[in-house]
Amino acid sequence: MRWYEKNENEVLEQLESNMETGLSSEKVKEKQSQHGKNEFSKGEKPSLIRTILHHLKDVSTIVLIIAAILSFLLALKHGEGFIEPLVISLIIVMNLTLAITQEGKAEKALESLADLNSPSCFVIRDGLRQEIDTAELVPGDIILVETGSLIPADARVLESNNLMVDESSLTGESEPLEKNMLVLPQNKIPIAEQSNMIFSGCLVTAGNASAIVTETGMNTEMGKIAGFLGNTVKGKTPLQQRLDRVGKNISTVAVISAVILFFIGMRQGSDLWSMIMLAVTLAVAAVPETLSLIVTLALSHGVKNMVSKNALIRKLPAVETLGNTSVICSDKTGTLTQNRMAVKRLCLNGGKPVKDIDEFSEDQTTFLKMLASASNAVVQTDEEGNTQYIGDATETAIMRLFNEKGLDKDAVEAEYPRVAEIPFSSERKMMTVLLKDPKGGFIVLTKGALDRIPFSRGNEEEIANIHKLHDTFAGDALRVIALGIKRIDALPGEEELESVEKDLTFVGIVGLIDPPRPEAALAIQRAKRAGVRTIMITGDHAATAGAIAKELDILSEDQKVVTGAELEEMTDEELSASIEDYSVYARVAPSDKIRIVEAWQKKGEVVAMTGDGVNDAPALKAADVGVAMGKAGTEVAKSASDMILTDDNFATIVEAVHEGRKVYSNIRKTIYFLLVCNLSEIAVMMFAQIVGWGVLVTPVMLLLINVLGDGIPGLQLAKEDSASLIMESKPVKRTESLFGGGLLNVIIQQTIICSLVVLAAFYVGAYVPAGMGNPSPEAGQTLAFLVLGWTSILHIFTVRSRESIFKRSLLDNPLLVASAASMLLALVVLCTVPAIGAHLGLTVIERSHWFAAVGLSLIPTITAEIRKFFDNRMDYNEYTEVEHSAR
Ligand code: ADP
Ligand code: MG
Repeated sequence: MRWYEKNENEVLEQLESNMETGLSSEKVKEKQSQHGKNEFSKGEKPSLIRTILHHLKDVSTIVLIIAAILSFLLALKHGEGFIEPLVISLIIVMNLTLAITQEGKAEKALESLADLNSPSCFVIRDGLRQEIDTAELVPGDIILVETGSLIPADARVLESNNLMVDESSLTGESEPLEKNMLVLPQNKIPIAEQSNMIFSGCLVTAGNASAIVTETGMNTEMGKIAGFLGNTVKGKTPLQQRLDRVGKNISTVAVISAVILFFIGMRQGSDLWSMIMLAVTLAVAAVPETLSLIVTLALSHGVKNMVSKNALIRKLPAVETLGNTSVICSDKTGTLTQNRMAVKRLCLNGGKPVKDIDEFSEDQTTFLKMLASASNAVVQTDEEGNTQYIGDATETAIMRLFNEKGLDKDAVEAEYPRVAEIPFSSERKMMTVLLKDPKGGFIVLTKGALDRIPFSRGNEEEIANIHKLHDTFAGDALRVIALGIKRIDALPGEEELESVEKDLTFVGIVGLIDPPRPEAALAIQRAKRAGVRTIMITGDHAATAGAIAKELDILSEDQKVVTGAELEEMTDEELSASIEDYSVYARVAPSDKIRIVEAWQKKGEVVAMTGDGVNDAPALKAADVGVAMGKAGTEVAKSASDMILTDDNFATIVEAVHEGRKVYSNIRKTIYFLLVCNLSEIAVMMFAQIVGWGVLVTPVMLLLINVLGDGIPGLQLAKEDSASLIMESKPVKRTESLFGGGLLNVIIQQTIICSLVVLAAFYVGAYVPAGMGNPSPEAGQTLAFLVLGWTSILHIFTVRSRESIFKRSLLDNPLLVASAASMLLALVVLCTVPAIGAHLGLTVIERSHWFAAVGLSLIPTITAEIRKFFDNRMDYNEYTEVEHSAR
């Protein structure tokens, strides 16, 4: 359908809509069943078979399959030992099931995230302005778009106010195009030239418009080319990549060890096939294949936690970066404050300030009427009869007082109809309306920041008085809005509209209160203790900003408030040299934010930056973590961000930092856990072979330990909670090694101790006469198997926390405890039930052997605890130091 060549009425008629009231709810339902949802169809999910095949391509799975085949051939050759290939096959199946179900779970969590991220838009339905999910749009809906909107569907423009649209995502044209409602000639016109159509997925860079939806979902121009949009590339996060490298390095060590083991065995005259078997299983067992899986789980678990705390992650790597964040640059209005503004005081030129509750004089009422005329906030009554204020918080505050004083906006508008508007922007910090004066000519009303409105030069004393008045308002943390007025005889042309903004007469000022969020001060303290500095950014006056910053404890004695004007005077070098002195940026424009981000980054800090407007997008992109507001934010800001705050609350950022640190620490725990188990396995197998003890544990035993000891309990580490100390220490540098902070040290220590006890266990079983039984290699193997398995499982309790085992409740992570306990028991069952054990090469052992096994298995845990005790005594000082420096 060529909508662009039809006139407004034809379009409205054809789509059965009405410009004033939009569609009715019934009509919407009817159309929804007819057209479906306004979304792009998602790419097909890979089938189960495809997923299985994908996992089978995994190197360690391939090696395992080879091992299964080998052992089957071996069993055929000997005519016995068919249990072994069976067990290996079972292990392959178990590994696959674990990998597929867990990965599926993680993916689902991330997918539901995409749903939560669904954008919304404004429509007129049933005569009311409402915000709905863009997926609910149908052809015929009247949509309202403004600066910062992401156009939700293809639509024909009905009314436009200097609408400019960036269509680069559709046509590649990078310059924004002007859109209007003029009918185009009946001809085939390319998309790029359809100047009365706006297209789904494009950005509104300026102006506003109402438009009628013509096409939705896959029928939109974007939908037609969106085949590729369904399958967004799922890249790995930096941490995942680093871990993959760690995994590869260990695998290399494992393979080299396996080869050496093989040659040693051959030289000592072992059977060729069983040596191949052993080498292959060692290679498999020592590869930490669950590492990558656990990291994915930890990330998705972190993401889920963040969602429940009102932080929506849009880009997965942000989870990691959040943990490293060292500076949070936050908007004041709405993020640190409640954005529930209220007019507290107002004052006319030359008069005395009056409170909002006072009886207003006629002049004061007129002033209020002028302010209301210069506002765009909408007051409407919903179905239940409640009054709704929609629009900018500053203006809704004005309208609320206006209503409370019993005034009627429609009456004011009827008397003084608005003929033009020069919109507010955070750069200009003022806006102007032009009203038709019934007495002839026009009235210009400009409202905005006192220092921005171009007033006519009055006498010095008067100006000084006005500024003094302004500063008393601002000093009480009030946001100040000034109003200027003048009369003109004729309207200037649309092009030079801004020329009216000069020589204005000062009318008066209003002071609005915007109280800090109750949780903000605490969150700022918490961030401080965690070594994260909070910076306030606002368009408000320096005095207002400074007063609130002091209240929130952002601004201390030795720190300064800097204004946008001062910032402009500084070079980038000067700014980075003094960046640490500034805690508050006042009267800044969004374009200044990017300089602040870059100056901090030059200092090596990891910066989170909040934003809501179109012009914030570059700073959000430049920041390490771009944080968009979920409620007040534009779709443009959201799409440039890494994370969205669904409650616009500063405290949520600090919560997210906490979650990010938890994820990082859980990943380190996982490394600690898996590496000690795997390295010990390599060490004991090599040692036994070198000293001529032969095979310490058989291939099947190794594989069993890997699944029962590492795999199953290890997965639960992803959900581990963190020590409270995690928010008491400085942020970890992003470049710091994963093994930093002494991790490598403890890994080596624990590997040595675990290896020693396993070797001791074998020695006890194989060489030390015990009770009635004779020492035998089988008893040695059984004991080594038990101790290797048990220490691996017990190790998880050591890894859980840097604090003492006893400080960590077992109920924190019941699944971890339950799985570890059942695996400990499973090993006992394997060793005591001959019907199973015998097939795995395990024998029944003496009671004294059991005691030895228990004792030996506890040694690594005990030594680790002793070490923790001493480490923590040292760390304790470090933590308290941080706390002191934060105060
Ligand atoms: P913030 O970054 O705190 O949201 P803004 O850039 O929105 O600050 O506002 C900066 C200044 O612009 C305010 O101090 C106020 O004087 C003025 N201002 C804010 N909103 C409006 C408005 N709707 N109309 C006129 N002036 C406004
Ligand atoms: Mg604002």
